[in-house]
Amino acid sequence: MGHHHHNHGHSHGHSHGHGHGHSHTSNKKALLSSFILIAAFMVVEVIGGILTNSLALLSDAGHMLSDAAALGLSFFAIKLGEKQVSQEKTYGYKRFEIIAAALNGITLIIISLYIFYEAFQRFFAPPEVQSTGMLMISVTGLVVNIIAAWILMSGDKDDNLNVRSAFLHVLGDMLGSVGAIVAALLIMFFGWTIADPIASVIVAVLIIISGFRVTRDSFHILMEGAPTQIDIQQVKEALSKIPLVKEVHDLHIWTITSGYPVLSCHITIVDEAIHDEVLARSQKILHDEFHIEHSTIQVEKAEIGCPSPHGTCN
Ligand SMILES: [Zn+2]
Ligand SMILES: [Zn+2]
Ligand SMILES: [Zn+2]
Ligand SMILES: [Zn+2]
Ligand SMILES: [Zn+2]
Repeated sequence: MGHHHHNHGHSHGHSHGHGHGHSHTSNKKALLSSFILIAAFMVVEVIGGILTNSLALLSDAGHMLSDAAALGLSFFAIKLGEKQVSQEKTYGYKRFEIIAAALNGITLIIISLYIFYEAFQRFFAPPEVQSTGMLMISVTGLVVNIIAAWILMSGDKDDNLNVRSAFLHVLGDMLGSVGAIVAALLIMFFGWTIADPIASVIVAVLIIISGFRVTRDSFHILMEGAPTQIDIQQVKEALSKIPLVKEVHDLHIWTITSGYPVLSCHITIVDEAIHDEVLARSQKILHDEFHIEHSTIQVEKAEIGCPSPHGTCN
């Protein structure tokens, strides 16, 4: 099997049931419809937040704005990722998805810091809040979040960093809406206006956690870190165990975009070994056991040694 599958994204040309033959179609639909839903509700929340004077609602609106931007960006990233590769960009725009995820993460951290600041000021002078309107809007918000989470769950949240991050995010939003509902009830029945900034801080904590996670995960990929689901040591052992293989060095495993790991390494073989046999076996092991579709392997005879002019990385 050659490299013909690289030019149609990571939905590979072959379909042999070990689960990497998925396409982005469901992700795109999921991202687009939740984007529309959240963007529409954001408008409702901005108006509601201003009319009721609730920081909890306004912070949630700011948060919805970031959600809409994040989902829109993810959708755009996937669209771009589908673009054909070119002479100059041999991976096309697949990495853009990771850059978009990093930007989402950073935006979330900034927004949550702003909410902390705003809530801090309100703690000392909690303003009047119209709790009935606040309750109505936060209940609607909860419903919107449940629908969005349900839509995103229909995309493959385990495999795609953006869909997964968007899903975790909406899950946090649901808890945020519950916080706003509780705050509205507390104001309604006990007059505890301070419940409003408290609820907005809870929202901010949730945003900063998901923001941190997404930023960390995408930076790991941008730093060419090894995919978390692949154990480098295990790969090295599996390749070293191939008959007539002496050792494996200069092993690198990194990720181009979600679900697209790549590998390069040198394999030293004893003199009697047949180059192409070792090559075929290692490619098969990498594909079947580690689901690495794209690997570049340099086979070296022990007698001659590594031709690398400046030694090897590891
Ligand atoms: Zn959100
Ligand atoms: Zn395959
Ligand atoms: Zn290739
Ligand atoms: Zn070498
Ligand atoms: Zn190297």
